[in-house]
Amino acid sequence: MPPDQDLLLNTAIEAVATACAITRRLQSERRTVAGLTKTDHSPVTVADFAAQAIIGHHLQSRLADLRLVGEEEGAMLCGAGAAPLCEDVTAALRAAWPQATPDAIVAAVDAGRHGPLTSGYWTLDPIDGTKGFLRGGQYAVSLAYLEQDQVRIAVMGCPNLAADPAAPLDRADARGVIVYATAGGGGWSVPATLPDATPTRLHCSADARGALRLCESVESAHSRHDLSARLLAALGCDTSTVRLDSQAKYVVVARGQADAYLRIPRKRDYAEKIWDHAAGSLIAAEAGATVTDAEGRPLDWSAGSELTRNRGILCAPPHWHARLLDALHRLE
Ligand code: AMP
Ligand code: MG
Repeated sequence: MPPDQDLLLNTAIEAVATACAITRRLQSERRTVAGLTKTDHSPVTVADFAAQAIIGHHLQSRLADLRLVGEEEGAMLCGAGAAPLCEDVTAALRAAWPQATPDAIVAAVDAGRHGPLTSGYWTLDPIDGTKGFLRGGQYAVSLAYLEQDQVRIAVMGCPNLAADPAAPLDRADARGVIVYATAGGGGWSVPATLPDATPTRLHCSADARGALRLCESVESAHSRHDLSARLLAALGCDTSTVRLDSQAKYVVVARGQADAYLRIPRKRDYAEKIWDHAAGSLIAAEAGATVTDAEGRPLDWSAGSELTRNRGILCAPPHWHARLLDALHRLE
């Protein structure tokens, strides 16, 4: 019997909402967000482990036969040197999961060690945009369900985005938003603090005449700022861009707060991770955006945990997508 889509969606929303509450608290407590470094030199925090553990635990306890491809591994929480980190993760989980022991936490994180499959599986970035999280900026808790090489369900929590799309992006008192989508079922948003509220439908901007508002990574190592500036100049637009961390970029396009998300990796052979794009791409597409790689190809989810058959990302409403792709072809 195919899995019940409503059960999967509701379970994912509950899990992401719980993780967002935990990470919000951690981000406000500067002490526990001190960054650690993984073997690939990327940063990781108590919040990354706490979010993956609570989501792994929640999905495991509600869903039969869980297959989860998550970014983090429990190994960093094991061994004598890891005791302080493990204690901080346990403390962070206390309210949401009072019975959690270090062994249960490692097992819940490692629920995410499954390899990608063609049959139904989840992919999770517990803290997408860890660098943004560390500098007090935007980040996203990002969870998606894939089946037959397509993203079917997407749930994303953006704890530092205002629920109201008319509010400024850098609003300091933002209380967060949860956005979700199902393939063919539209994109929706609810305030992160009220996940049971009546959802609001997401629509990307239909305005093809105004100035192009392009968003991109804050990190120049993750996306070529020089190329986006040249692209905007070639289109006769102001060259300033909206820079924000994480898949919140897909959300601002899906809510009409920006007209495009462009990501051109600095290294030509950089392969994007599926957990960095699965949820965001479906949410933006269901809000009416066209989502492809920077060469106009559909994202190909069949290659495992990386989008090895794609390069970069271009996400924009159809009118802007066509113009941007054309201008990019001419520039590169
Ligand atoms: P962003 O917040 O848009 O800067 O993207 C954050 C994501 O960038 C992280 O989750 C990483 O997986 C990914 N990332 C890490 N290194 C690179 C790189 N060299 N080029 C592109 N993306 C990267
Ligand atoms: Mg990420």
